[in-house]
Amino acid sequence: MFSKILIANRGEIACRVIDTARKLGVATVAVYSDADATARHVAMADEAVHIGGPRPSDSYLRGGAIIAAALATGAQAIHPGYGFLSENPDFVDAVEAAGLVFIGPSASAIRAMGLKDAAKALMETAGVPVVPGYHGDNQDGEHLAGAADTIGYPVLIKAVAGGGGKGMRLVERPGDFAAALESAQGEARTAFGNPAVLIEKYVSMPRHIEVQVFGDGTRAVHLYERDCSLQRRHQKVIEEAPAPGMTAEMRAAMGQAAVRAAEAIGYKGAGTIEFIVDGSEGLRPDRFWFMEMNTRLQVEHPVTEAITGIDLVEWQLRVASGEPLPAAQADLTITGHAFEARLYAEDVPAGFLPATGTLTHLHFPEGARADTGVRPGDTISPWYDPMIAKIITRGATRAIALSRLRAALEDTEVAGSVTNLSFLAALSRHEGFARGEVDTGLIGRDIDALTAAAAPDLAVQALAALGAAGLADGGGALTGFALWSPLLRTVALDGLTAGVEVLAPGHARVTIDGAVADCRLIAGGWWVNGRPSGARIVLTPGRVSVFGPGAFHFDLTDPLDRATQAAGGGLTLSPMPGLVKAVFVTAGQAVAAGDRLAVLEAMKMEHTLTAARDGTVAEVLAEAGSQVEAGVALIRLEEEE
Ligand code: ADP
Ligand code: ADP
Ligand code: MG
Repeated sequence: MFSKILIANRGEIACRVIDTARKLGVATVAVYSDADATARHVAMADEAVHIGGPRPSDSYLRGGAIIAAALATGAQAIHPGYGFLSENPDFVDAVEAAGLVFIGPSASAIRAMGLKDAAKALMETAGVPVVPGYHGDNQDGEHLAGAADTIGYPVLIKAVAGGGGKGMRLVERPGDFAAALESAQGEARTAFGNPAVLIEKYVSMPRHIEVQVFGDGTRAVHLYERDCSLQRRHQKVIEEAPAPGMTAEMRAAMGQAAVRAAEAIGYKGAGTIEFIVDGSEGLRPDRFWFMEMNTRLQVEHPVTEAITGIDLVEWQLRVASGEPLPAAQADLTITGHAFEARLYAEDVPAGFLPATGTLTHLHFPEGARADTGVRPGDTISPWYDPMIAKIITRGATRAIALSRLRAALEDTEVAGSVTNLSFLAALSRHEGFARGEVDTGLIGRDIDALTAAAAPDLAVQALAALGAAGLADGGGALTGFALWSPLLRTVALDGLTAGVEVLAPGHARVTIDGAVADCRLIAGGWWVNGRPSGARIVLTPGRVSVFGPGAFHFDLTDPLDRATQAAGGGLTLSPMPGLVKAVFVTAGQAVAAGDRLAVLEAMKMEHTLTAARDGTVAEVLAEAGSQVEAGVALIRLEEEE
């Protein structure tokens, strides 16, 4: 076993790797950017090396600086995590040339799976079923359109260098093909520097089922499947293992195909074979096809750990240090069921825009596994993926694991940033999901119901008013009541006005719009109008939050004080933190309502900002290439006459 390793990543995955290294007695070196100097992964590691500016290209993507840090600290191996350099074969070559071990597959295995078209061709030869389609070299538009006709609509156009759902277009009719091809090629060229695409049959009632594999460079085993069908715009939201409705026959066929795929490229370490499955008539062994291989540890690996009892990072370290595969196929079994929900700093009502903020309050449930890279007080910065945590639950049956997931999401508390927590909670209560009827279209079909914000009821409003009046905090302490006196105050909360009247210690009456809530503190918990609320009141600067069930946040500032700068449409503000990719206008230029002003990119999306009205550009306040926070003015138009 190694005595010291360097982790070339940040966030939850860096912390996850450090946890296992520590368990194995392996010392750890973290690397960090300017934005992460006080991050959790830096605090957890035995040593940490600063590698540059906040932009990934100035730090976590600087292979040379990372290798230099490993050599300087005496680390023997580098764990890449996921994302960043994890699937970069040139980095693997450089690591090995420096005399260090890359904890992962060989550069040649990564290259073999790097482009989707070549990977599909290779898998076909290895006898692994691939999605019917065209994955050849001819990129001529007419030829590709002809291929689509032969395959039969609907078809999917995919960037061969694609990832993260980018460069992918669903085409339902031949008449839409040419335009979709052009936009997929354009997006692929910008995102990956490679416009090549492949054409695939669009599988109906698609389910995404992937198989975890693990190889020693010659032989491989599989650690069963994960179902990742709950997706929003091709991004996974909740994952589970095993797949609902899986049969022994289908599992054996998928497992064998995955092992064949891994062995065909001499795979070493942890990898995932992603299959698309036609779920229109249940799971059938002749209805799954290879989509792509991810040559790294996957975000959702914890659900596999939960059902197999295996620590995949431990296996990675053991195999990379020269040990044989820690278990044979016959020794691997599934016990129970597991779910993982990805908790993000995201503005769901605004269309799932990435958000930032300082996490003034953060609480994860007991009884669930929470993999996180942040602590209370830490900041979700605009530079990286806005993931806050992964919440993982396990149970003897799917129903038990799912009800634990619901409970865990209800017990999760975040203040200081908006999150997708309510969306995850709604999804965990979705009836079709509960029945195991999952497909990649589920979220899209029910998006309105899943994102409908629950309105706070009287009890929640009353408790928020108590918080605002300074009568309750944290776990419901008696702050205000200690200096009890019969007292009536008025508090303003997000446009609500509440009258709060203290009747006795631990007893208050709150009146909102004529409705009366009788609030009593009984054994540390709040009862409203004779019923236990189960709620917790949390005060953070400028806000009061009421948690569980649900999460409600109320601004204490008077909404009228908030600058409504954008009034009149003269100012275009950045709707989210992100990178200004392009600015299309200059001062003095006349624009019409709807004209493109600029493009903003945040993690996996591009947003075009358009003029709200006709006018003349007075000032361009942002330049292409600059990083901006949410709410920053980017373009100002001249005042209207
Ligand atoms: P999966 O592993 O299931 O394919 P995704 O593709 O959604 O999951 O997530 C991997 C992506 O997460 C990377 O491609 C990258 O965009 C992003 N990412 C990279 N590094 C990190 C990190 N340290 N923390 C969070 N997200 C990261
Ligand atoms: P990425 O590299 O962006 O992860 P994938 O090829 O893995 O791209 O596909 C991402 C998602 O797109 C899948 O999980 C699935 O939801 C959908 N998808 C991909 N291929 C097909 C297909 N042939 N038919 C239906 N859906 C598909
Ligand atoms: Mg994929």
